[in-house]
Amino acid sequence: MSAVIDGTQPIRFYRPNPHVRTPAMRSPEYVQMSTAAAITLGLVAGQMHRVSCTHCLNLLVTYPEGCRANCAYCGLARHREEARDYADRNFIRVDWPTARYDEVIERVQAGSDRGRFERMCISMITHPESNADTYVLLEKWVRAVPQVPVSILSNPTTLERADLVRMRDLGAEIFTVALDAATPAIFDRTRGKGVDSPHKYEKYWAAIEWAAAVFGPERFGAHLICGMGETEREILDACQRVKDLGGHNHMFAFFPERGSLMEDWPAVDRGQWRRVQLARFLIDFRGVRVDAMDFDADGRVVDFGVARAELDALIASGTPFRTSGCPGKDDDRVSACNRPYGDSSPTDILSFPFAPAAEDVAAVQRQLAGEPVRAGLLAGD
Ligand code: SF4
Repeated sequence: MSAVIDGTQPIRFYRPNPHVRTPAMRSPEYVQMSTAAAITLGLVAGQMHRVSCTHCLNLLVTYPEGCRANCAYCGLARHREEARDYADRNFIRVDWPTARYDEVIERVQAGSDRGRFERMCISMITHPESNADTYVLLEKWVRAVPQVPVSILSNPTTLERADLVRMRDLGAEIFTVALDAATPAIFDRTRGKGVDSPHKYEKYWAAIEWAAAVFGPERFGAHLICGMGETEREILDACQRVKDLGGHNHMFAFFPERGSLMEDWPAVDRGQWRRVQLARFLIDFRGVRVDAMDFDADGRVVDFGVARAELDALIASGTPFRTSGCPGKDDDRVSACNRPYGDSSPTDILSFPFAPAAEDVAAVQRQLAGEPVRAGLLAGD
């Protein structure tokens, strides 16, 4: 049965709105989608700074009772239930409108995205119905839109190995684990016992190892957030571990999400973030090992383990500083999932959702040299 506002009209599309009573929408009938995906589908009017669209339809399962976990950096966390209904909460800096899943599929089949979606992603949450509903969403999509491959952004807390096998057999192409925290201590503090949250570091790594076996090389990965108190060496060690298993690393700059328990934390240092982006790219795509890099006493990268000329050419290409994630059709090193402004503002871009221009690269080079400059604004902006 479709949800209604005020007992009158069935809800087909809902934009987060603190001035109305949030309708009781739940998956699998309903899904939330990123604002960028809603703009690309023509469901929301709007423009994004220097980006015309996203190439990934990022979906999120939705329930009125929300996520049962309590991660300190997440806008969807349980501790927010007093302040905002689930479907109204911001997540990775943006609002997530809700739509009927069948209509989303019909729109993509009808070409409303103008062929721009190269990937669809289902984000799971910690909820007793999340596994079963993910199967339903996945199966329907693969039947209706087989030409657009699916990634699963998983919640390992509710999963067993057999669930991964089932997702693969239903047609999921890539399986990703939102590990987020680079070390056991940070994991516990931000999403485990320290915040009365059910997640366990060991279970997350077990899921990454299952994914390596079930999905195979290049078909799994981990999300990692840079800037939650870990050293550069620690997060790059985690990247190397994922790479050694055959996977890829999808990096996020820590940004204090409004309404989260960490909203007062500082955003990640720009120099730290650029070094980690660059080193992660070398590990994932150039075969450079973290042991070949040099670090100072505080775990900061001081040598990337490649010749200066090669490093300069790579920096000048701008590619390591683009949003990292699951690939699109043309280039494995470029993510279809560009998450516009999911970890930074358009006036201070940390993950570039487009190919950086020469001015952007010049700003990145100054950040790598330790200058407190911003990147992303062009002369005349
Ligand atoms: S990188 Fe994007 S498409 Fe891939 S799992 Fe993460 S959110 Fe989904």
